[in-house]
Amino acid sequence: MIVQTSSSSQRRHGHWAPGSRELNAAARQHLLSQGEQWTELRANVFEVVAQDGEPISAYEAADRLSRLSGRRIAVNSVYRILDLFVANNLVKRIESRNAYMANTHPGCLHDCIFLICESCGHIGHLDDDQLAQEMRRRAELANFAPRQAVLELVGLCQNCRNPQN
Ligand SMILES: [Zn+2]
Ligand SMILES: [Zn+2]
Ligand SMILES: [Zn+2]
Repeated sequence: MIVQTSSSSQRRHGHWAPGSRELNAAARQHLLSQGEQWTELRANVFEVVAQDGEPISAYEAADRLSRLSGRRIAVNSVYRILDLFVANNLVKRIESRNAYMANTHPGCLHDCIFLICESCGHIGHLDDDQLAQEMRRRAELANFAPRQAVLELVGLCQNCRNPQN
């Protein structure tokens, strides 16, 4: 449906809600467009990771999959699939948490900025291409060749800031 690799524009592209049918379909379509197969296990791993929009470790994902399927799914198989998903922009790795989240925009590349709540563990997410590009530009000016941005802010989410709500 939507494949955009240019980060230079605000042209139409898809961002979907975690756990939605639309996101699962977009992830499937994007992986297929990369010449990879969408096997049943891969589909299940994506669904489990995307389920509630919260970060999940490979171990938790393997546990949930094992419970759902009634057979033991090895963590190593889950790691391999998560690596494939990360390499193909379907899943983002939250480096400081050693956890994974479904990418809500599998068809377009952004340097996602993650907002990590240190109280409840919720992780929000912003995309600001201008800011990210400026950071890469400054790095290049400093004679550094940037490959990947790891942008994580730690603090308090809206709910934890206003616990009376
Ligand atoms: Zn986008
Ligand atoms: Zn993003
Ligand atoms: Zn919170």
